[in-house]
Amino acid sequence: MTLSRLSRSIDGKVAIVTGAASGMGRATAHLFGDEGASVALLDIDSEKLDSVVSEMHEAGYNARGWLLDLSDRGAIQGVVDEIAEHFGGIDILINNAGISIPVAVDSEDYGAAWDKVVAVLLTAQIMMIRAALPHLRAAECGRIVNIASTEGLGATRYGSPYTAAKTGVLGLTRSLAVEFGREAITVNCICPGPINTGMTAGIPEENKVVFAKRRTALGRYAEPEEVAHATLSLVLPAMQYVTGVTLPVDGGLTIKNA
Ligand code: NAD
Repeated sequence: MTLSRLSRSIDGKVAIVTGAASGMGRATAHLFGDEGASVALLDIDSEKLDSVVSEMHEAGYNARGWLLDLSDRGAIQGVVDEIAEHFGGIDILINNAGISIPVAVDSEDYGAAWDKVVAVLLTAQIMMIRAALPHLRAAECGRIVNIASTEGLGATRYGSPYTAAKTGVLGLTRSLAVEFGREAITVNCICPGPINTGMTAGIPEENKVVFAKRRTALGRYAEPEEVAHATLSLVLPAMQYVTGVTLPVDGGLTIKNA
């Protein structure tokens, strides 16, 4: 047989990565830069953002940072259009930014925690997609990856805003995969398990080891780059018949019974 000439490279593509100043977003931005993509890094933390953009420039990658609070709906469209103008389009959107606010349902702070978590984890994803859509439509093969969590497949005590928002990401992904399917834009979602990032940095190392040994098949936490590689596989031009999937990148956490 003669293989088709479908590209297995994102060289020359333009990618937006939200929450790119730390953890998985940072690793994804680096990996995409290393693969030859132009990367727009979005984050609310200006100091960390500047430092990641600098390290990417030092590595010789094409990258630029945009300071943005993703819970500020009104600011999203302007930034996305600026990115498209700067890089000459948008091919790939990685909705990765996240926060976690553990809170009991009967806590006084519940309303504020709910609003913030849902705004950053769920509303911002659809607002980013809406803003990027004209540009993704103009691209040869638009790709969207939404970062959810294994907390969108199961639940942990005091995580109800987080779990509700992440479960919403799964539904959003499926719905938009159907809506955009005929335009050859794919929409997929990744559910990371326990990953060593800023979000988990406060958990004592010994607790992480015990948890990972008990709960994951691989018996360990992952490094952010391991998720970035899964994300990369979903945005390759050749990855054109996979859409609407929920891909756990969790070391086997969701399949392990004992
Ligand atoms: P991280 O804290 O290292 O990085 C998150 C980034 O998002 C930070 O740079 C932060 O400044 C940015 N951010 C937060 N609020 C923002 C806002 N309002 N506007 C713009 N940027 C904002 O954490 P991470 O673990 O790399 O998180 C990446 C994604 O992975 C998140 O969606 C998180 O929920 C998800 N996740 C993490 C784990 C884990 O174990 N670390 C597991 C499952 C899912």
